[in-house]
Amino acid sequence: MLLQNWWFTTLVGIKRPIQPPLKGDVKCDVLVIGGGASGLAAAARFLGTGKKVVLLERNICGGSSTGKSAGFLTPDSELELSQLRRRFGPQGAKDLWEVPVRGVDLMLSLIRSNGLECDLQKQDSLYLGKGSGGAKAVREEYASRKSLGYESEVYFGDDVRSVVGGKGYTAAVRYQDTYGIDGLRYAQETKRVLVDGGVDVYEASAVVSFEGHTAKTHMGSVTADEVIFCADKLGPEVSPYSWNVYHEQTFLSITEPLSPVEQQSMFPAGPFQCWDSDLVYSYYRLTGSKRLLLGGGSLLTTYTRNDSTTSRVIDHVISGFRGMFPELRNLRFVQYWMGRIDMTRDLLPTVLKEPASPWVHRVLGCVGLPWATFCGDFVAREVLAEKETGDEKYYGYFDVNRKFLVPLWLERAIGKRLAFPINNAWAKYYQKDTRD
Ligand SMILES: Cc1cc2nc3c(=O)[nH]c(=O)nc-3n(C[C@H](O)[C@H](O)[C@H](O)COP(=O)(O)OP(=O)(O)OC[C@H]3O[C@@H](n4cnc5c(N)ncnc54)[C@H](O)[C@@H]3O)c2cc1C
Repeated sequence: MLLQNWWFTTLVGIKRPIQPPLKGDVKCDVLVIGGGASGLAAAARFLGTGKKVVLLERNICGGSSTGKSAGFLTPDSELELSQLRRRFGPQGAKDLWEVPVRGVDLMLSLIRSNGLECDLQKQDSLYLGKGSGGAKAVREEYASRKSLGYESEVYFGDDVRSVVGGKGYTAAVRYQDTYGIDGLRYAQETKRVLVDGGVDVYEASAVVSFEGHTAKTHMGSVTADEVIFCADKLGPEVSPYSWNVYHEQTFLSITEPLSPVEQQSMFPAGPFQCWDSDLVYSYYRLTGSKRLLLGGGSLLTTYTRNDSTTSRVIDHVISGFRGMFPELRNLRFVQYWMGRIDMTRDLLPTVLKEPASPWVHRVLGCVGLPWATFCGDFVAREVLAEKETGDEKYYGYFDVNRKFLVPLWLERAIGKRLAFPINNAWAKYYQKDTRD
């Protein structure tokens, strides 16, 4: 298996060139830093407003998490609805679930209204339970969806095989209005829309320092009235909030195209995007070219400091998959890659306006493309003073000073690598801060 991001392969033949790096000093109304899902959504919100907008991207747009992702567009990234409900109560769960739901809608509308070529696939979501614990989790998810008014279907025991051919699943909950995309093409195509709409996009332009209203790159600078940071993995030299995030590692692989018989045996009722109830879960879906994307990780490598680049982890995920789908055991996996997702201690994003410099906005730790898209758009609406009724509450949910199980003073003693998994697991499985 070759170590290479499959989506880079899909860039071959792209019609638009890479944007040149910034050279010289420029001024603008709004500077967006980072060209992933969040930064692109922020910049897109200014189209047609008459604002002069500059976007600076260290790599190419989509060159970090967005362009490495599996491209599941589903509200569920790391937190199930039932987990949000336990933690925040019914109203809080609904408030928060609407974030990625609106994120999916925003992405879809950008894709459809601009004809973005990004391998958009309509695929229902299927959350799969394994063992009795998994069946319980599915039951809870279904109950939460029902009680909060979200439609879904549930399957138990042998019925699960009517939708997914694997053995060993004990239950599944299925819901609609979810999609798959090629995240890198999405980012590059969105860049095209931004450039056509008058946004100055500079790729290969990492911000190396920031002071007042001015961001400096190696070859230039941008001075802006408003600055929106949507960049990942920033160090303290550019972000006083780098303590707020850590980077979880996950792995992906892709196969040769599946034959119609293999597709049918895997998905008897048509393609789904699937993930299971394991703590470090596996996830899979078919691309438009009928290749199987399979992702997962391991407890040991999720929070490691150094990237793990061998195929050891993904080999293990593949072997687990082959065990569950013996009829697909001859499928050939051709490429694998890994990426790191910025996340906060409780897996919810942080969105803030710096108190001492309220023209500086920060979007941090978005786990999931729809969450990132919502947050980028949300901050841009704030800048445009286009807030909708009820928007203000999100500054509360996404407050940088919210409480976590392992407090900062203890985290400093034991280190992020230990504190983050504890806080993540606590937020996912136990935390309760009901507001209802
Ligand atoms: C392997 C993998 C699989 C995933 N699968 C899914 C999935 O199926 N569905 C899903 O919803 N989510 C998935 N995710 C998570 C998802 O990709 C992220 O949550 C999402 O892309 C975050 O978007 P973002 O814009 O916040 O960050 P990013 O996409 O990381 O964008 C930040 C951008 O900032 C740029 N940048 C960083 N520093 C600077 C600087 N100094 N100056 C200028 N620019 C800078 C980076 O180059 C980058 O392009 C996956 C992630 C990975 C790694």
